[in-house]
Amino acid sequence: MPKSRIYLDHNASAPLRPEARAALVAALEEAGNPSSVHAHGRRMKALLDGAREAVAALLDVAPGRVVFTSGATEANALALQGLAAALGAGRIIHSAIEHDAVRAPARALGLPLTELDARVDGGVDVDAFVTAAHDAVARGERPFVALMLANNETGVVQPVAALAEGLRGIDAPEGLTPILFSDAAQAIGKRPVSFPTLGVHALALSGHKFGGPQGTGALVLAEGVEPRPQLRGGGQERRRRAGTENVAGLAGLGAAAKAAGVDFATKEPERIGRLRDRLERMLAEAVPGVKIIGQDAERLPNTSAVALSGVSAETQVIALDLAGVSVSAGAACSSGKVTQSAVLTAMGIAEEAARSTIRVSLGRDSTEADVDGFLAAYRALAAREGANRIEEMTA
Ligand code: PLP
Repeated sequence: MPKSRIYLDHNASAPLRPEARAALVAALEEAGNPSSVHAHGRRMKALLDGAREAVAALLDVAPGRVVFTSGATEANALALQGLAAALGAGRIIHSAIEHDAVRAPARALGLPLTELDARVDGGVDVDAFVTAAHDAVARGERPFVALMLANNETGVVQPVAALAEGLRGIDAPEGLTPILFSDAAQAIGKRPVSFPTLGVHALALSGHKFGGPQGTGALVLAEGVEPRPQLRGGGQERRRRAGTENVAGLAGLGAAAKAAGVDFATKEPERIGRLRDRLERMLAEAVPGVKIIGQDAERLPNTSAVALSGVSAETQVIALDLAGVSVSAGAACSSGKVTQSAVLTAMGIAEEAARSTIRVSLGRDSTEADVDGFLAAYRALAAREGANRIEEMTA
């Protein structure tokens, strides 16, 4: 892609970090199966172990708690299908702002399901979750609760640790204690996350959301928590997920995890946050009527959900694309189709605004020049659309 284009869609996929590319390419030079006992196999196993240690260190867990997968979708499926089954879940409780990679496997389970809306500021109400879990326990259903750590569209950080505490306070008999899972695909690598502090039973992450290769991820498990494998065959990943591991990709994931730790130490998220805040400030000055969804809540430092009533998200994305800026509309990252955002609807955002919201997501390669380029393109788009509307009204 020419350098002149501006990439502001890091929540869809972040560019591969140089450290990750180097580790991936180096691993591709090696031959061998990490399960083989000979020297070639042991070398691949060492690469895999190194990657596992790096991911574990980023989250403050023991390496043995990290199960490598092909991404967050697979990690979510292993949690929803494998863990829920292994622990005898009787009811799924999740927020209505979860990614489809949680909602779809949750629905497929066929268990009773409670879906809880978010507030208009983008956060969820912990008490509503605890009450739903409490009621499930009272009915004799073991609750399996899923709450994402940060929303992919708004960047709003969800109160997962507070929810864990609330769930621990439920007086449940043996076998009915609530289980808490978090899809942390958008949070990991963008802000420091300590697994033990979060207090969840399991957490999913995705490599390509923070500079690792696409097709890599992990499910991280608390001590003593074991899912039923969804892929059966060989004994890889301690029999939790069969199939020869993607050693090169995972070596890249490990390198990205290590590099993310350095980012946190050097306050890179704060730099990105300042850039994002500048973008929002200048946007509000330049384009009257523009609204930032979730602006008052605690958010990821890189994400901005920008609403311009009267101009569909699709029109905005296309106009910005023609102007050389890549952003996305709502959550429709998998189909390529632009649909009304289910996340914004679940937050109670008016239909008109929900249809007119784009997601701008920055990353470590983002610069002030990128923000300026975006602002110029957006100003032009807003002026053109405003003129069109006046023409329509006077025609
Ligand atoms: N969960 C969330 C919150 C996401 O934003 C995404 C990607 O868009 C996924 C899960 C899926 O991740 P992956 O592409 O690694 O399967």
